[in-house]
Amino acid sequence: MINIKNSKHLIKTILSKFTFHRFYQGYKYIKFLIYYYKNKKKINFYKSSYDPKETLPKVIHVETRTLCSGKCTFCAANILNTSRSDDLMHMELVDKLILELSELNYKGRLSFYNNNEPFLDKRILSIIDKARKKVPNCFLELKSNGKGLKIETVDNIFKSGLDCLYVNDYLDKENYKNKIFSKNVQSLLNNVNNDYSHLKKKIFFIHRLEDQILNSRAGTSPNRNSENLSYKWRCFRPFEMMTLSPSGNVAMCSDDVYYDEVMGNFKESKLIDIWTSEKYKKNREILINKNRNLINTCKNCDYIGYTLN
Ligand code: SF4
Repeated sequence: MINIKNSKHLIKTILSKFTFHRFYQGYKYIKFLIYYYKNKKKINFYKSSYDPKETLPKVIHVETRTLCSGKCTFCAANILNTSRSDDLMHMELVDKLILELSELNYKGRLSFYNNNEPFLDKRILSIIDKARKKVPNCFLELKSNGKGLKIETVDNIFKSGLDCLYVNDYLDKENYKNKIFSKNVQSLLNNVNNDYSHLKKKIFFIHRLEDQILNSRAGTSPNRNSENLSYKWRCFRPFEMMTLSPSGNVAMCSDDVYYDEVMGNFKESKLIDIWTSEKYKKNREILINKNRNLINTCKNCDYIGYTLN
């Protein structure tokens, strides 16, 4: 016969060991397994018949100005601690990029931001406008922290041709827990719910925690100890992503905050030549074969290794 008192004790003991952290780790692991199961074909493709000339990057990130106004403790580009200088991409370089993507009839995601706040570049509306006109089939997406952002600017950037805007509102613990947006973001949301309802399907407001501990961000995350991680995981990013700095340096990964692993310089070379270069090829081979430890920016990285669209 089942002893109810003992059973209750057993359940209590199991639950006490099943901490949220373990649950979260388990969830991440299951997600990881599902992902790899689903992507067996993709792995085979990348290993055997991938040709970068035929398959352009799914995502191109461009930092037209490096500055950020956020104070997120998980990001090395946060305004309180960053050692990055405030650099601006010359407009000639922006034009060169747009022209080359136009010639390639680029159809992937073109994001004029990375570890920065895109609206701090006052040219962002005209950049989006140019990109829309010259690269009509790309998907233009921006992410902003919403600080100081005005609804008129948001409306105008969509008129210029932006497809999608995420407003990530980085909050303290209390407001994050209670799902309370900051004043400016709430005002944007009110506007979208009323006079600017035509933007509803294109703009997304997200509560984020300012001091969240995320992945190690290629070993750069200030609030995360990422020494000696050495994960034996594949990474698809060099097959799917390019990240451009204002000086034209091209990194293979958006987590490479300091552009340490440079694939080439876009001022000096064509984007397609960098994408099809020996250096990119070598890094693809290394990362599809799970050898993160062979690349400096990757050896302290715990990112799951795929790129969301
Ligand atoms: S292993 Fe990490 S740092 Fe390296 S390319 Fe992949 S996500 Fe970026």
